[in-house]
Amino acid sequence: MSFEALGLHATIVKAVTESGYTVPTPVQEQAVPAAIAGRDLLVSSQTGSGKTAAFMLPALHKLVSADVVAAPAQDASRGRNERVRFTAAKPKMLVLTPTRELALQVTTATEKYGSYMRRIRAVSILGGMPYPKQMQLLSKNPEILVATPGRLIDHMESGKIDFSELEILVLDEADRMLDMGFIDDIEKIVAATPAGRQTMLFSATLDGVVGNMARRITKDPMVIQIASNSNRHENISQRVHFVDDLSHKNRLLDHLLRDESMDQAVVFTATKRDADTIADRLNIAGFAAAALHGDMHQGARNRTLDSLRRGQVRVLVATDVAARGIDVPTITHVVNYDLPKFPEDYVHRIGRTGRAGRNGLAISLVNHAEGMNIKRIERFTKQLIPVNVVEGFEPKRSAAPARSGARPGGWKPGDGRSAAAKPGQRSFSKPSAAPREGGYSRDAAPRGPSTGAPRREGSGGGYRGTNPRSADGSRRSFGDN
Ligand code: AMP
Repeated sequence: MSFEALGLHATIVKAVTESGYTVPTPVQEQAVPAAIAGRDLLVSSQTGSGKTAAFMLPALHKLVSADVVAAPAQDASRGRNERVRFTAAKPKMLVLTPTRELALQVTTATEKYGSYMRRIRAVSILGGMPYPKQMQLLSKNPEILVATPGRLIDHMESGKIDFSELEILVLDEADRMLDMGFIDDIEKIVAATPAGRQTMLFSATLDGVVGNMARRITKDPMVIQIASNSNRHENISQRVHFVDDLSHKNRLLDHLLRDESMDQAVVFTATKRDADTIADRLNIAGFAAAALHGDMHQGARNRTLDSLRRGQVRVLVATDVAARGIDVPTITHVVNYDLPKFPEDYVHRIGRTGRAGRNGLAISLVNHAEGMNIKRIERFTKQLIPVNVVEGFEPKRSAAPARSGARPGGWKPGDGRSAAAKPGQRSFSKPSAAPREGGYSRDAAPRGPSTGAPRREGSGGGYRGTNPRSADGSRRSFGDN
């Protein structure tokens, strides 16, 4: 299947080819023809699947085919001393995203895919950006707005945007927007758009609240399910390393970041403060590190991401919200310095590596009290995460819970973790897909001395609590992004 065969306009095919894409990804193959035909779409697809092009290519096709010509929204008849009077911008397309970073990436991708189209302007309307700058962007009456919901509502309420001519509405990472509490804003925005619009909703899941909303705001949608949780990230090797305390964790982190296979890494922390502290510490230790979190001004966030893209920053220390949507193909490693609050975030985090068809390595540094959290992630992803030990960094505590028997999750301790897993047992570890592994002393989980079973914590009971604070002595509040 080629991009021409999807029915796209020649200028778009040219731009896509110049982007280096030779064939459409599975989500593009299904979504593009349906969207060109005018269908509403509900798409569940993994991050990194090419979903941005899946909605932007048909949207651009529609706009170029309609030969959309925009008039400036600014009233040209102002006198010398008059303030600029704005008539509202009337975009044809709106993309809602959960974060500023994702919005900027969508805007950049739009510029790339639309580079041979005349008169198509895409602008980002984001929290953190100065209002005068946004007014200036809106005054050009752009055809495409890419926005985070909160700031968009501000402009709608002050009459700067009029959605009466909107033709296409996209909700990107809709599940995440709902997680972040944007449901009321989204409902308000959707209500301000014409009922005859085309709606495309992309989400990691189409179940639950997001599924209900999705069905409410679409008409006879085509449902496209590209990847289930269980077959995500097959090109990403996942590991758990147990640590005894913060000092052990920090030493192991430094060691892992010195791995010769490491090109660039994202280290995830639970709090903004930890992101700053760890980035400072890594800089002192000689790494080109930088922090990225929601307390930073947009300009500083953009500069950090540019430095990451240019390879000047090798280790980005980030919180979940800030890191969502980062698409830098040279990121070889993701390190969970702290585990995420929700299993869904684990999937998004590890998706920062292994992009554009490359392999990646995702390592979680876990203290002994966090076994249940790992288990929750494994249940969600339906993948077992092998335990690794680096020579010289062995945890003092045995990682083996003194338990046996079936687990509530339906699998037994040791399933899939031992190189000697029995036929029929699930084994998700894929050593062949791993990048070079210099520095690892063992590939499979270490074995307990008497049972031969992998020493492993996180298979269920035996834990007094799941609060990581108690075990490594650190104090952090989850969700503080
Ligand atoms: P996304 O899922 O939209 O974040 O895209 C993930 C990455 O895949 C981005 O770096 C895109 O530039 C890239 N990409 C999108 N479509 C294709 C394609 N058809 N062939 C190769 N790479 C692609």
